[in-house]
Amino acid sequence: KDFFRVVNNGHLGTSQKMTKPADSRLVLLGNPGVGKSALVVRFITKRFIWEYDPTLECTYRHTTMVDDENVSMEILDTAGKGESIHQEGNINWGEGFLLVYSTTDRESFEDIVNLHQHIASVKKTQNFSCVLVGNKNDLTHERKVGQEEAEQLAVDLSCCFFECSACDGGEAVDESFKELHRDVVRRRMVNSMRRRR
Ligand code: GDP
Ligand code: MG
Repeated sequence: KDFFRVVNNGHLGTSQKMTKPADSRLVLLGNPGVGKSALVVRFITKRFIWEYDPTLECTYRHTTMVDDENVSMEILDTAGKGESIHQEGNINWGEGFLLVYSTTDRESFEDIVNLHQHIASVKKTQNFSCVLVGNKNDLTHERKVGQEEAEQLAVDLSCCFFECSACDGGEAVDESFKELHRDVVRRRMVNSMRRRR
């Protein structure tokens, strides 16, 4: 339990604001039930927990090694539909987005495009960091979304793509968070160089 802190409204309380800001602010978005909460808990605790309150929104602070460097991330696990109006504050807050669908749920995959457009309209740019994550690939008999079509979508959105399972604990869960972190840092550097020119 002390691995993560549940904070009211999904945002950090004042005590945490005093501490050094995190190196990246990441947000999980995707339809209800795709496994966002399971993924973030797997990433942070290396465990799988079957049931979460689907309405709970919370922010986690996590420190981990990325490319031999100790980095801190703030990770917001959202609840509810991604394109909904109430997500705007979350989208403004976030620097990188895990766009999560379930390989067993076609609609959750088809909604990713809308989600991406929604972020672009809130951010007023297509230039933001995201990764596409297809979760629940342990459920091979219930697969409704092919790997190739997801790869194609990732090309269209110019982002990385990972297929994974929050319950089998492969490398892909870790890599999706870490790659998103790298992209946030990279993009921040490029943007600040552009501004200086
Ligand atoms: P969220 O609404 O996106 O946060 O989804 P949850 O994390 O609450 O997960 C929804 C349901 O899917 C729960 O019953 C989880 O146990 C289940 N689940 C999540 N990830 C996986 C996975 O990778 N494989 C399987 N088989 N079930 C999963
Ligand atoms: Mg959840």
